Amino acid sequence: LDAFGPLAGVSGSELEVPLIDGRTVRYANLDYAASAPALDAVIEDQQRILPYYASVHRGAGYASAVSTALYEQSRATVADFVGARGDDLTIFTRNTTDALNLLASAVPDGAEVVCLDIEHHANLLPWQGLGATIVPAAATLAQTLDDLGRVLDETGAGLLAITGASNVTGEVLPLRRLADLAHRHGARIAVDGAQFVPHRKINIAELGVDYLAFSGHKIYAPFGSGALIGRADWLDAAEPYLAGGGAVRKVTVEHTNWATGEARHEGGTPNVLGAAALAAACTAITEIGDDHLRRHEWRLRTRLLSRLAALREVRVLNIWPDCTDAVGVVGFTVTGYDAGLVAAYLSAEHGIGVRDGAFCAHPLAARLDIAGGALRASFGLGSGSDDVDRLLAALRSLINNGPRWAYELVDGRHQP
Ligand code: PMP
Repeated sequence: LDAFGPLAGVSGSELEVPLIDGRTVRYANLDYAASAPALDAVIEDQQRILPYYASVHRGAGYASAVSTALYEQSRATVADFVGARGDDLTIFTRNTTDALNLLASAVPDGAEVVCLDIEHHANLLPWQGLGATIVPAAATLAQTLDDLGRVLDETGAGLLAITGASNVTGEVLPLRRLADLAHRHGARIAVDGAQFVPHRKINIAELGVDYLAFSGHKIYAPFGSGALIGRADWLDAAEPYLAGGGAVRKVTVEHTNWATGEARHEGGTPNVLGAAALAAACTAITEIGDDHLRRHEWRLRTRLLSRLAALREVRVLNIWPDCTDAVGVVGFTVTGYDAGLVAAYLSAEHGIGVRDGAFCAHPLAARLDIAGGALRASFGLGSGSDDVDRLLAALRSLINNGPRWAYELVDGRHQP
């Protein structure tokens, strides 16, 4: 297979890391699904903005006026990036978890929520807290959609909350069909876009998605920003998510007249650098283009999967055999090896970073029989064929020779 390089420059691409034998190697970051490195374009944009570091909506000074304009421009860029309807709100949050908790706080009393048991805890626990009906994923995606339809019907639900792509297997859910299904049963649909938005162009107006949540740090922006985009009515009627400065029209000692719109839920001094980073990432991804991004990830994914298939000891995780679409996230186990040990081995002996554990998706981990942990390799714009090849070589070496140092690292035992 031909070698190919990254599609875009990202932070850390030159990072050298120490190995246990004293050598250093280029860090192979295969953990984009946890946090993607920052795009060079985003870093440059942040440097451009830093001189104007000042308080948004709170000052008459020049830097403050620039910051305010940047903040509101960033909002418009993010709204545009996801194809928001003209009357949707685009609320800046800290991340996806924050966005989904905000939405959960705005679901009207009495509206039932339905979700699946394959979700990341961020899209499970806020709904579990509201007494949601958590539908077990069936053996096939087709059956799961049927089950969801039946439960939406039986519960008369007001909201279906569902992920766009699994953070454990990368499987992509059919959002248009799910939106149609929810609407046919009189429910709205909220999509956890944490793993979908970094990999796929989304247009919520075209898909009929009512709410979308996602995180900046998974779309190549530094930490600290995310967004909730969607229908204004529930959000305007809800209690403010954070009571405080900026969320109000007028306050007296006896009474507070709350703002509507985004301000209602953005109490406190806004994170203008975070908002600008999110917007810069949206712009950069749009410029790279959905076709290029998809093709790049598809090449990385098929390279990894086609060669993993030759390793009998490796089991690649899948929820549904009839789910054919997936992003650059591959979950797997290595038979006979503890996942934590394999992750430590990959890092200490090969300078490769992957995620291990139950991926903040314990019910799915139990369903996939990986409650003891599994591994996840994930990649994106800064990944090249070399990253995938190094992982494959390291796994082959593990299977053929055993981990030389990792036992010692993990539990003090040394096994030659
Ligand atoms: N949903 C999914 C599918 C995720 O993968 C993650 C992050 N692992 C989250 C939600 C939560 O994102 P954050 O930690 O940025 O709030």
